Amino acid sequence: MKLIRLLIIIFSFYIMACHSNSQEKPDAEQKTTAEAKEPGPITLVIHGGAGTIKKENMTPERELAYREKLQQALNTGYAVLENGGTSLDAVTETIQILEESPLFNAGRGAVFTSDGKNELDASIMNGATGEAGAVAGVTTLKSPILAARTVMEKSPHVMMAREGAEAFAKEQGLEIVDPSYFYDENRHNQLQKLKENQEKDGTAYLDHHPDYKFGTVGCVALDAQGNIAAGTSTGGMTNKKWGRIGDSPVIGAGTYADNNTCGVSSTGHGEYFIRYVVAYDIAALMKYKGLSLEEAAKEVVMQKLVEKGGTGGVVALDRQGNVAMPFNTAGMFRGYIKEKDKPMVFIYKDEN
Ligand code: ASP
Repeated sequence: MKLIRLLIIIFSFYIMACHSNSQEKPDAEQKTTAEAKEPGPITLVIHGGAGTIKKENMTPERELAYREKLQQALNTGYAVLENGGTSLDAVTETIQILEESPLFNAGRGAVFTSDGKNELDASIMNGATGEAGAVAGVTTLKSPILAARTVMEKSPHVMMAREGAEAFAKEQGLEIVDPSYFYDENRHNQLQKLKENQEKDGTAYLDHHPDYKFGTVGCVALDAQGNIAAGTSTGGMTNKKWGRIGDSPVIGAGTYADNNTCGVSSTGHGEYFIRYVVAYDIAALMKYKGLSLEEAAKEVVMQKLVEKGGTGGVVALDRQGNVAMPFNTAGMFRGYIKEKDKPMVFIYKDEN
């Protein structure tokens, strides 16, 4: 009898021990989940185009206007992230600030096609899910980046073009404007100047011209949840032929985002960025070759593109919030923000 009682006592202790162990486990699990949810670093990086941007060709007023607009864009995106917003919202809102400014070749202030029109391209990608959206050759959508995002979120497609994209955007309630909304006199003069050059020396694009800069806008953001998003918006290249589509709406060339590697937005001579799949190539070098963000971005922009004669640059960031902004032109409007009220903005080559 004594022995049986002893066995019962031992068994009860055993059951209690098991029970308390099994209670510890969810606690431990909860702890790791809580740790995983701890907000991470937030970072945002932007560009406003690369090209022949030299101090001697810039007036102090114009330079200040660029710096202030870039700072405003960075502060806007940072505020979204700081308030717990997603990287997708930060990218969309930041790019909208730049689209609305005639200083940049996107939205208002877009460059002109050879037949004197503004045809806009944009794309956006969600690095958490791999979803992407793009519009190409649109002429009446006030915010091409928002249209790209709407294609991503509200359609089964990735890229929509011209009248089809416009009809879809209208159906979704996006703001439609008259094509004259995008008109900017300076841009129009650039087209005239280029046409004269073309007659004189056959220069087809302004990128060989000393005054030339691209002016496309782009943004990559990392939110507190560790999600990366990237977006790009442009009017393309001055004097482009009717229907020409550049790299900006091409996922993998102008825009790419993957939480496991990086987010990238490109600017430059689009034909080269498409051929050499620039944005994806940077992510692929990180993924398959184990390069750091800085190494991968430099290899593509400063080596591969330079060897092929492709001018331009990229802005990129990784999950740790590291930022890379290489360019192989004289300058690139660029900047990043990692701390509230501390937007860092650069234009020329020798600024850091
Ligand atoms: N990449 C753009 C394009 O080729 C131009 C630019 O970056 O400014 O359309």
